[in-house]
Amino acid sequence: MSETDLTDPFGRRIEYVRVSVTDRCDLRCSYCMPRGFRDFEEPEDWLTFDELERVMAAFARLGTRRIRLTGGEPLVRRGLPVLARQLSALPGVEDISLSTNATRLARSATELRDAGIRRINVSLDSLRPEVFKQVTGGKLEKVLDGLMAAKAAGFHPIKINMVVMAGVNEDEVEDMVRFCLEHGFTLRFIETMPMGDTGREAIGHFVDLQKVKARLAKRFELLPGVMPGGGPARYVKVAGSDLHIGFITPISQHFCATCNRVRLSVDGTIYTCLGNEHHLELRPRLRAGCSDADIEDAIREAIRLKPERHEFNEKPEKIVRFMSMTGG
Ligand code: SAM
Ligand code: SF4
Repeated sequence: MSETDLTDPFGRRIEYVRVSVTDRCDLRCSYCMPRGFRDFEEPEDWLTFDELERVMAAFARLGTRRIRLTGGEPLVRRGLPVLARQLSALPGVEDISLSTNATRLARSATELRDAGIRRINVSLDSLRPEVFKQVTGGKLEKVLDGLMAAKAAGFHPIKINMVVMAGVNEDEVEDMVRFCLEHGFTLRFIETMPMGDTGREAIGHFVDLQKVKARLAKRFELLPGVMPGGGPARYVKVAGSDLHIGFITPISQHFCATCNRVRLSVDGTIYTCLGNEHHLELRPRLRAGCSDADIEDAIREAIRLKPERHEFNEKPEKIVRFMSMTGG
């Protein structure tokens, strides 16, 4: 195995894959999936757990070390702990994490941790039940129950992802900082991205996170911070605490030069950039009986397609798929 097997044409080493295990979700976040949306992938087109294991084993042989399970809402895919266990056992895989809306986490937190998941990211845009309902269509209480169950089960770190929206939840950033201080969570603010019609509509509420950072600096003493695990967030640390706050700024300050990831959607398509259409369809090859070596070749081929950077600013109309399809 060569160290450079998964290096893209721009010299970026791909060691992280985000696996979308379903495009379905029990919420309808305003910036992500439209209310009433039903045009989902058919179950026969979902990669099975064994197919996912086979593909991820090939990624791992080529140097992938970290896998995140995402969606849609990954916990609506039945038996997710079984898949987590299969992937945790793959040689070379060092880290399995989960992105979830946490509505179903209370009942499965312990099982997921036992299956090998250690790190968890939870979407939480508001601590006010009525605002949470307005943004997601769901109940805040369930998410808070899920979060407390994750804390009790020993997940660490637990990261809260908050998409900051003007006129919706922008006034809650300080409250969210206090909430995360109280519970020992990490907090990440995210800028809205123009993914699908929902994302483009939400851009009307866009907030430049550089301004949020400046605002927080007036209330809290912010020191330079780093979090292990890399990723696109730029961190600060609140003085006198363990709280790290990350800013994910694809629009105001893009981070494409250090991008280390690709995405696998539930229908077995490798998407090489969130903000571009460059992709490779693996499922037809898998179901035509290809060999493990063929899968590795297909992955290398996909990595060669990875574009240099997204074009959210120049071509916001470009991406028609919703974030729920590729998993954020
Ligand atoms: N359902 C899980 C969740 O909500 O965490 C995992 C999938 S969700 C698509 C992953 C992340 O994408 C979430 O943190 C969500 O806030 C973010 N997201 C979805 N649409 C977005 C958009 N248009 N702009 C920015 N972030 C978005
Ligand atoms: Fe569902 Fe996550 Fe999209 Fe919200 S952001 S609709 S929870 S997939």
